[in-house]
Amino acid sequence: MNRDTICVQGGYTPGNGEPRQIPIIQSTTFKYATSEDMGKLFDLEADGYFYSRLQNPTCDMVAKKICELEGGTAAMLTSSGQAANFFALFNICEAGDHIVASSTIYGGTFNLISVTMKKMGITATFVDPLCSEEELDAAFRPNTKVVFGETIANPALTVLDIEKFAKAAHAHGVPLIVDNTFPTPVNCRPFEWGADIVTHSTTKYMDGHGAVLGGAIVDGGKFDWMAHAEKFPGLCTPDESYHGITYAERFGKEGAFITKATAQLMRDFGSMQSPMNAYMLNLGLESLHVRMQRHCANGMAVAKFLEAHPKVAYVNYCGLESSPYHALAEKYLPNGSCGVVSFGLAGGREAASTFMKELKLAAIETHVADARTCCLNPASSTHRQMNDEQLAAAGVPAELVRMSCGLESSEDLIADIAQALDKI
Ligand SMILES: *Cc1c(COP(=O)(O)O)cnc(C)c1O
Repeated sequence: MNRDTICVQGGYTPGNGEPRQIPIIQSTTFKYATSEDMGKLFDLEADGYFYSRLQNPTCDMVAKKICELEGGTAAMLTSSGQAANFFALFNICEAGDHIVASSTIYGGTFNLISVTMKKMGITATFVDPLCSEEELDAAFRPNTKVVFGETIANPALTVLDIEKFAKAAHAHGVPLIVDNTFPTPVNCRPFEWGADIVTHSTTKYMDGHGAVLGGAIVDGGKFDWMAHAEKFPGLCTPDESYHGITYAERFGKEGAFITKATAQLMRDFGSMQSPMNAYMLNLGLESLHVRMQRHCANGMAVAKFLEAHPKVAYVNYCGLESSPYHALAEKYLPNGSCGVVSFGLAGGREAASTFMKELKLAAIETHVADARTCCLNPASSTHRQMNDEQLAAAGVPAELVRMSCGLESSEDLIADIAQALDKI
C-alpha cells in the first residue's frame, strides 16, 4: 500500500461488527484459563499479552502502523523518544562497548550518550556529519557496537548522509540506528538507504498536536546478528533471565531485536506508552501525510521570506539552495524535509528578544513539530546560563531563533514575522 493509505488505515483491520476506530485496551493485565496457557507466553512460545508494562494490544496496533510506514519487520512503542533511543542503543551495547554518533544530534540524546550511558561504562566518539569517509572510519574502535545519527538533526537541521554512515557501520560489522523524527517516514524511509534500526520521538509530527509524549523503535530486519555473533552476545547467546532463549536464533533477523527489547528492557525498565496515549498518537498518524505537506510548504515559504529580509543574517533550511545540506536533501528528502527553520538576526541577542516578544501567532515554547507555530531563542531560554562565546561554541549563537512552522496559512505566518521584524 501507498504510505498515505497506511497513515489512514495501517495497523488495524476490524473484523465483522468490530469497532472502526482502534480499541483502547485500558487494562494492566490479561486473563488465562490455565497456568500452562500463561506459561507458554512467558516462554515466548505463544503470542499474547500478560502485563501492559511489556506489551499492550492498543500500543501494538499503533506500532504496527509505524512499522508498515517505515517498511520494517517489527516495531514497539515507548513512553517517549528518549526511551526509544535509550532502548535501541542499550539493546546492543553493554559496559565496555563504544558508540559512534553524529555530533549534531538532539541535546537530550547527546546527554543520554555522553553523560548517562558513560556512567554505565559505554563510551562514544562524536563525528561531524559532513566528515569524510576516512574520518568516519577513524572513529571506530574494536569495541564499537553501533552507529547513531538523525536524518534531520534537531535543532541543528543538518541532514545525515545515511548511505555513507550505513556503509561505514556495515564495513565494521555493526548496525546503523537512525532517529527519523523530523522527516517522518512520509518524507524519508532510512531503511531504503541502508539503516538497520529506526527510532522516533512520536511526540513531534506523528502526534503533531502537542498532546502526547511517545516514542517508537522499528527494526528493518536485515542486520545479520549471528554473522557478527561475537560482537552481540546479548542477541546471540542464551539469555539466562529468559529461560536460556537465544533471540537471534529463535526470532531471526526480522524479530530478534524488538523481541529482546520487549522481553528484557521493557520488563526491567518499564517505559511502555499508555494505551490512551497510543490511541491519540494514532489519531495524529491518520493525517500525518496531509499535515507533513503543509508543514513543509510553510517551512519553505518562511525560509524564503527570511532569506530575502535585510534584518536576517542567515537561514538554516535544507530546502534552500543556499544550504550546505541542499544536495543531501535532494537525495534523501525529495518531497520536502520538515517545518522547522532556524535563522540568525543581524541585530544579535537584543534583536532576537524584541522579535520574539512582538510575534503574535508564533508562541514561545520549547516544543517543535506542532500544528501551531512555535519558536524559541535558545540563548534566552534553554541555554541562558551561557555567555555569547559559549553559545557560539555550542552552535546556538545568541541571535539564533528556531521556528517550527505549523499548519496555519503561510501568508498569515509571514505577515506576523514581517511585523515583528519591523519592530527591531
Ligand atoms: C524530541 C526529540 C527526541 C526526544 O523525544 P521525547 O519524546 O521528547 O522524549 C529525540 N530525538 C529527536 C530528534 C527529537 O526531536
